[in-house]
Amino acid sequence: MTGGIVFDIKKFSVHDGPGIRTTVFLKGCGLRCWWCHNPESQHPQPELMLRPNLCIACGACAVTCPQDAIHWDSDQYVTDRDRCQRCGTCVEACFANAREIVGQEMTVADVMDEILRDRAFYDQSRGGVTFSGGEPLFQTDFLAELLSACKAEEIQTVVDTCGYAPQAAFDRVRQDVDLFLYDVKLMDSARHRRVTGAPNDRVLSNLRWLSAKGHRIIVRIPIIPNINDDEDNLHETARFLRTLSAVERVDLLAYHRIGVDKYDRLARTNPMPPTDAPDDSRMTEIEQLFRDYGLQVKTGG
Ligand code: SF4
Ligand code: SF4
Repeated sequence: MTGGIVFDIKKFSVHDGPGIRTTVFLKGCGLRCWWCHNPESQHPQPELMLRPNLCIACGACAVTCPQDAIHWDSDQYVTDRDRCQRCGTCVEACFANAREIVGQEMTVADVMDEILRDRAFYDQSRGGVTFSGGEPLFQTDFLAELLSACKAEEIQTVVDTCGYAPQAAFDRVRQDVDLFLYDVKLMDSARHRRVTGAPNDRVLSNLRWLSAKGHRIIVRIPIIPNINDDEDNLHETARFLRTLSAVERVDLLAYHRIGVDKYDRLARTNPMPPTDAPDDSRMTEIEQLFRDYGLQVKTGG
């Protein structure tokens, strides 16, 4: 049975598709969106995350690290990430919960055990399971087996995707997906590349293809001030989406700053310039813009 790297399983979610859901977050993504609020999802392998504010400087991590990767420097313990093998020994040693390994290997059976525990809630609420990420299709084999196992249990399935995956990967899983939550960010490919690290041709062609195949799709658009909230991009996005007959609705997701501290905890630079969330009146204007193109629109997931 295939295994994969899971970085979180969230129970009782009500924002990742219909009803009450269990959301399984798979690690790994081919995009590097500046505004990503789950940067720990991007790298495919487990990673060490630190919470220096919780550290009580006891030194237990430094003593136990088999790689000698943790040292006292001036006034704090610092971790040499080049030496770190992400073994998790220091996490066990740290009573202050200042250290965490994000991402663990799980088998399909492990994940299904978690999913099946909440079956009663899915049945009562017409909910089910959502596979998110990262980009869940980054682990296509694992995702395909998980979806197939859910279908064998007659559990409704949603895949939350950024669309940046080979069409063959979508083709592999699509028969076991009841609904796609599909991100669209920018219509201009050069702008898309600048803020996500990749052009948008694959994202848009996969969406067009899934729609032509008649799959249920809700498009999700993050509204990021000064990145994609200009009139040109919004109108072009709306014009594109109205040509796709399978798109049931457009969900507008207002940018928020939750998660920015995670970059520090991963020792990475946050690429997003300081940006305020769009206010309610701007979100209402954008909602109306999409509605004027005949699209069903909702603010929020
Ligand atoms: S995860 Fe392992 S190798 Fe990395 S710092 Fe902790 S104990 Fe050392
Ligand atoms: S074990 Fe935890 S609390 Fe102690 S020094 Fe290391 S990180 Fe800080």
